[in-house]
Amino acid sequence: MTRIKKLPPRLIDKIAAGEVVEGPASIVKELVENSLDAGATRIEVTLEGGGTRRIRITDDGQGIAAEELRLAVTSHATSKIRSAEDLFRISSLGFRGEALASIASVSHLKLGSRPEGEPGAELRVDGGRIGKAKGVGLPRGTTIEVGDLFYNVPARREFLRTQRGELRRVLTEVKQQALCRPEVHFRVVHEGKTVLEAPHADEPRERIAQLLGRELAEDLGCFPRVEREGITLRGYFSPCDRSRGDSRQQLFFLNERCVRDVTLLSAIKQAYANL
Ligand code: ADP
Ligand code: MG
Repeated sequence: MTRIKKLPPRLIDKIAAGEVVEGPASIVKELVENSLDAGATRIEVTLEGGGTRRIRITDDGQGIAAEELRLAVTSHATSKIRSAEDLFRISSLGFRGEALASIASVSHLKLGSRPEGEPGAELRVDGGRIGKAKGVGLPRGTTIEVGDLFYNVPARREFLRTQRGELRRVLTEVKQQALCRPEVHFRVVHEGKTVLEAPHADEPRERIAQLLGRELAEDLGCFPRVEREGITLRGYFSPCDRSRGDSRQQLFFLNERCVRDVTLLSAIKQAYANL
């Protein structure tokens, strides 16, 4: 018989990373969500090699206190929930406290942050080994840099797509996030070139114009805002002569989160059936 043993924490995080961290796009998703949860008004994503070599996300959000940097990269550590009851009134995008620990376990991670009126500090984590926080001068907000994704999991590294493919997925991800938060300034830079820029927009239609094209945005219809039983519904739809062969550009957002739901997709399909 082989003995049953409890796994060491670093291995647990590495296994958990398999579920959270699929590639650059899922990292960008988690990090942008953190920036949004921190109340950022500006989020900049900088990539090298489609994100496989380096991903850097900078925000102007509330930041992390120097003495909490280590906790932030520890699994099951979160500032977003405290108790089981909180699970029923979640208003943030994250709450599991797993993302940073998972990402840090399969990359070289650098976390720098400075809350308003406090000193800034920086911390490095290499393949899950957490270094010491050091004081540094930084602008208000948080910067997270993820280098050499999967450097210590060669089998996963092989499954990364081409740089172009990974970049495409990152852009799809950022666009979805940017569409639900028009008031936030988003920028994506790849290999030194700005590939997406969406400055603060006062109105969803303006954000749609920034991301999907002005011509399309101007053509979109808008159905009247519906409010019923505590639910508010609003949306935009394109004229029939702008139809597409697939549903990839049918986007649904629930509480500022992009969701994909077959019931909604087939409802749209039925509504347009005879048109
Ligand atoms: P979760 O988002 O589920 O809480 P994460 O691992 O993504 O877990 O982040 C852990 C904690 O680190 C967060 O709860 C938050 O307090 C802090 N944090 C992470 N990213 C940022 C950020 N960009 N700005 C401020 N705080 C952050
Ligand atoms: Mg998170």
